[in-house]
Amino acid sequence: MTSNIANRLQKLRRKLEGKEVDGIFISQPENRYYLSNFLGTAGYLLITKHDAVLATDFRYTEQAGIQSPEYRIFQITGSSLDWFVQLIMELRIKRLGFESGNITFAFNQKLSEALNKSQVKTELIPIEGVVESIRVIKEPGEIELITKAAEISDKAMEHTQDTIHVGMTEKEVAWEIEKFMREKGSQSLPFEAIVASGPNAALPHHRPSERRICPGEPVVIDIGARVGGYCSDLTRTICLGQHDTQFNHVYGTVLKAQLAAIAMIHEGTSGTEADGAAREVITDAGFGQAFGHSLGHGVGLNEHEQPRLGANSTDTLVSGMVFTIEPGIYLTGWGGVRIEDLVLLENGKIKLLSKSRK
Ligand code: ZN
Ligand code: ZN
Repeated sequence: MTSNIANRLQKLRRKLEGKEVDGIFISQPENRYYLSNFLGTAGYLLITKHDAVLATDFRYTEQAGIQSPEYRIFQITGSSLDWFVQLIMELRIKRLGFESGNITFAFNQKLSEALNKSQVKTELIPIEGVVESIRVIKEPGEIELITKAAEISDKAMEHTQDTIHVGMTEKEVAWEIEKFMREKGSQSLPFEAIVASGPNAALPHHRPSERRICPGEPVVIDIGARVGGYCSDLTRTICLGQHDTQFNHVYGTVLKAQLAAIAMIHEGTSGTEADGAAREVITDAGFGQAFGHSLGHGVGLNEHEQPRLGANSTDTLVSGMVFTIEPGIYLTGWGGVRIEDLVLLENGKIKLLSKSRK
């Protein structure tokens, strides 16, 4: 039986065939974990057609040996990049791909200088999104972990809906949520819970403040849990006390937009078409300018990853992808409404992973 790591390495090597490189240098932490199961927080992977090397320092070599049996473990010593040059020479790499979206310009310069100094004629080739393009299709084990994370955020949302009351500060609500999710088994949260009340709800990424929640105003609550490294992402907008007609109208429009997108997405729908379906509902209701962000994003080891659902997206939605659908309307001075669910595209159909009531 091949391990999931051997499978992922095979997929990566196949992708690299078209890139005219002899190997790839992996530095992005989630990609490193995805390709190796290595849980350490420092280290690099060097993957060629026949070799897979995990380079890390003495703090992690022992755990690396246990967590990443598919890799040869190479111990990094000293602060220079001699280890990098040594590996390049050993593996006879002439053209090395590196993750240009992750490596800083300064680090790239250092790698080049180290190679030049040793008169190694290896070319560094920028490559973007190759591991991410494999990660975008989730394996059953990954879906299981995302589902567990979604169950925790669902429970936290229901707990909040039952306990939140007028006069609580945004910070108090956020802390209750964070505590609840950790107690229910979430690892460290992928992002700080967003609790945005009244006018603050007009800011899609507001940070919880000392503001006390008043009756009749929208409260946007956006939360995520993490299980086995995998995230969930969920938003509900609630209103305590009497709902005014404005709230009901805006809420109804956002919900209608979300349901329209959910209904039309199938195998092969583009990220642009999905965004357009929700945007049309909001625009028709006269709020086109008030939906300032894109419809959704992929979720996995990162809380934001491929695919993108937006007006400028180049992604196509296919089975095995997990992503959010989160239209919103934000009105300065009044507040906002966002409804976000996490879905899996499975056999060409949308399956809701988040189940919290709307
Ligand atoms: Zn969210
Ligand atoms: Zn989101």
